[in-house]
Order: sequence, then C-alpha cells, then structure tokens
Amino acid sequence: MPFPIILSSPSGGGKTTIAHKLLAMRADVGYSVSCTTRPPRQGEIDGRDYHFLSLEKFKRGNAAREFAESAEVHGHLYGTLRAEVERVLSSGRHVIMDIDVQGAKQFARAFPDSVVIFILPPSAEVLVERLKARGTEDPKSLIRRFKSAKAELKAIDLYPYVIVNDEIDSAVAAVSSIIEAEGLKRSRNGALDARIEELMDGIQRAIDHYSARK
Ligand code: 5GP
Repeated sequence: MPFPIILSSPSGGGKTTIAHKLLAMRADVGYSVSCTTRPPRQGEIDGRDYHFLSLEKFKRGNAAREFAESAEVHGHLYGTLRAEVERVLSSGRHVIMDIDVQGAKQFARAFPDSVVIFILPPSAEVLVERLKARGTEDPKSLIRRFKSAKAELKAIDLYPYVIVNDEIDSAVAAVSSIIEAEGLKRSRNGALDARIEELMDGIQRAIDHYSARK
C-alpha cells in the first residue's frame, strides 16, 4: 500500500533537492505539487514546481476544504491539495511532500499513515550560507529567515526519523531505506493475514499427514 512521505527541515536544509533526487531514482514515488501565493522564482514553472495562486483563489480553495493542510510560511500561504495526494496514491505510488513543520502536523492528522522525516543541515554555517543565497542581504529579512529556522528546529520532537544532510546522495539513500522499511511494516500489509492463514493451513496438513503415519 502506498503512503505519504513528508520531508521537513528549516529552509536551507536541502529537502527539495532530496525530494527531486529521490523522484529521479524511484519510479514508485510521485510528487504532490503544492499551492502557494508567493510569486514564482526565476526558472520555476506553474504546475510543476507549485500551483501559483492568487490570494483570493487560495482562500476559496481553503474554504472549499480542498487542502489537506495549509500554513503561512515567510509571509506567504502554502497548501497541499487533497486531490493531488490522492492522484499520486491512487496511481500506486508513494507521495513525497516538502512541507513546513506546521503543515506536517496537520497533514499527519489527515493522513495518519504518513511517514514524517526531518532533514537537518550539516552545520549552522551551511544553513546560514544557503539562506543568504535565497534572497537579499537585507539584515532584517535575514534575521527573519534565521529566526524561522530556529523555530522549525524546535519542532523536531514530532519526527520519528531524522537525517543529517551532510552528503546529498547518502541523505537520499537514507530516505529510500526508510521507505523500504516502512513498506515492510506488518500494519501496512493487509495481504499478510491471508498469507499467514495459508501457511497455517499448509502446516496443519503436514501435521495431519504425519499423524496418520504414526
Ligand atoms: P519555498 O517558497 O522556498 O519553495 O518554500 C518555503 C517553505 O514552504 C519551505 O519550508 C517548504 O517546505 C514550505 N512548503 C512548501 N510547500 C508547502 C505546502 O504545501 N504546505 C506547507 N505547509 N508548507 C510548504
């Protein structure tokens, strides 16, 4: 049974790169394209990176309960469409999402079989450099980004899995191993009951056979 996988980290943690690499590597994983009210950055494509919505359209979608979760991040609204998640799951693929910590909490409530993974940057220096590269050097907006990174780190207790992203390929491999292990959980394998019953029946037949020959 396919399940949702949530990657969270302070921005600059590298979760988007991990998600993209994982998608390129595994045909059994699909991506849920989020909605946002922030304007597209250079190179971003509507419908591929995000569904870029006006504030009105976003609010209408929210009122119509189209979102499995939504949150305000750095002054813009972001949300995961239920239909987008269902589209990927019903195609038989796990669905990977890159959502902030507030959204992850709401999403896991809506989809309790979700696997939630926290990605840690390798060091404060790397995080600071990545966040600086994201926008202006204006100290006020830098401080805002640093403060929200600290707030996001505080939410780590909600996450059973934590990966330190000090080497991208190892981090991707770690996410992939978590998917493998989660897929083997008994609770995710409804077909196991029938298989166990079949095994029991087979063993009983052997018992009956050898008992008759005693
Ligand atoms: P960015 O604007 O840099 O792409 O993303 C900013 C933050 O918004 C990141 O922490 C990212 O994880 C988060 N984000 C992206 N999509 C969603 C979403 O659908 N829901 C929520 N709650 N957060 C999101």
